[in-house]
Amino acid sequence: MRSQIKLTGRVIFKGDPGYDSARKNWDPHTDRFPKVFVFAQKTQDVVNAIRWARANKVPIRPRSGRHALETNLSQVNGGIVIDTSNLKSIKLNKKCGTAVVGTGNRVGRLVDKLARQGYMAPFGDSPSVGIGGITPGGGIGPLQRTTGLISDNLIGLEMVDAKGRVIRATKKRHSDLLWASRGGGGGNFGVYTKYKFKVRRAPEKATVFTVTWPWKQFVKVVKAWQRWAPFTSTKLGSELTVGPKKGGNVSMLGIYLGSKKEAIHFLEPILSVGTPTKVIKYLPYLEATKYMLAPDPILTQKFSNQFSSGFGRRPFPDKAFKPMREFLEKAEGGTPAGFFFLNWGGAIKRKSPRATAFYWRDPQYYVEWNSSWVKPSHAARNIALARNTRKKLQPYIVGSYINVPDQGIKCSGPVYYGKNYARLRKVKAKYDPKNVFQNPQSIPPA
Ligand SMILES: Cc1cc2nc3c(=O)[nH]c(=O)nc-3n(C[C@H](O)[C@H](O)[C@H](O)COP(=O)(O)OP(=O)(O)OC[C@H]3O[C@@H](n4cnc5c(N)ncnc54)[C@H](O)[C@@H]3O)c2cc1C
Repeated sequence: MRSQIKLTGRVIFKGDPGYDSARKNWDPHTDRFPKVFVFAQKTQDVVNAIRWARANKVPIRPRSGRHALETNLSQVNGGIVIDTSNLKSIKLNKKCGTAVVGTGNRVGRLVDKLARQGYMAPFGDSPSVGIGGITPGGGIGPLQRTTGLISDNLIGLEMVDAKGRVIRATKKRHSDLLWASRGGGGGNFGVYTKYKFKVRRAPEKATVFTVTWPWKQFVKVVKAWQRWAPFTSTKLGSELTVGPKKGGNVSMLGIYLGSKKEAIHFLEPILSVGTPTKVIKYLPYLEATKYMLAPDPILTQKFSNQFSSGFGRRPFPDKAFKPMREFLEKAEGGTPAGFFFLNWGGAIKRKSPRATAFYWRDPQYYVEWNSSWVKPSHAARNIALARNTRKKLQPYIVGSYINVPDQGIKCSGPVYYGKNYARLRKVKAKYDPKNVFQNPQSIPPA
């Protein structure tokens, strides 16, 4: 018997107008054919969608910014996608230093709205990533050594659970859910509809920089970066990218929350390596955020990717550069494939690994690599390339970042969550004992 519960909000079934664009994700490799999309306009639409899905035994996938980096996370064949991207409110309370944010906001929109009012929100390297998905997984980026992770600033939330109940978690109520939502990853406990963040005043101005080197110099640049970036001023965030051998280069994008003169002083150890070309600008804070967040449209992004990620506790030894070089030599030219490093330390390290679900706080840097392709026939070999590289780099890294997952990782719980995994499973058992919210590497109930 079909359920009496009706789907509400903007509902798009397979075959309806808008279905094809509704199923487009940032990474085409993750596109699927769900049965229905519900674009929630309010929390009650999420409640109805969850109740409908359970009554009709349809698998659920929550979605916000469509930037999932693995398959079957925010879409699944035959499932219902509960999409929160229309929940876009942003309420800044200057007196309390907080912002209550709908989970449909994209990182860039939030950063922009706050910056225009003199406040700062942490960001990563793409403005179009959804705040809905990035927040529960952690949210890493170049301000993190000052502000902490995006999830470190999460102080409250609204979530609809597997029974369709609206739960509001704070430090006092449902504090276990708040703990788990600060690093446990999206898609595990329910559908988040609102986040409350602590916010801080933005500086008037900041220094941004782009430094590039020829590809041939990547070993010496990475070596120098790994010895410099984790230990320089915590007001300095640095993203180092090494592209494929074919057509790629080495490029460092970053921000320093202070003057150009100070920035140049702190950058000196890395600028003295190889033959860099540099651009360093001291800009009003809003302009600085725009410099850091170049447009990254979703529907026209044509590259598929296989990512894998980890954390470095010490600089790569010479042996680690062999698999890195092999990867970069095999990666397809003319694609965004490559290695990416981000410096750790500062505010991230000041929190204990057990204080929130985000465990990997003591490494010196984050590292990820991705192979990329356009033709579906190139998928298998590129997926294998990224995953085989993980095996070769395993001796030199720990853990992995749940927002940059790799479904080739077996028994992934402790890899993503370290010693927090057991507690996460208990929280899961409390809020979703029947494992309604699941995906290929989701947290099983204890
Ligand atoms: C181009 C690009 C750049 C990136 N840069 C960074 C970066 O700098 N820093 C960083 O930390 N990460 C980065 N990421 C990774 C990003 O954080 C994750 O892919 C994140 O999960 C994307 O969230 P989303 O809402 O955009 O994606 P979606 O595909 O909508 O969702 C991703 C996951 O989150 C879940 N989810 C989404 N919304 C909700 C919700 N409302 N309730 C419950 N679960 C939800 C989904 O079920 C799914 O499991 C980047 C990704 C891309 C593609």
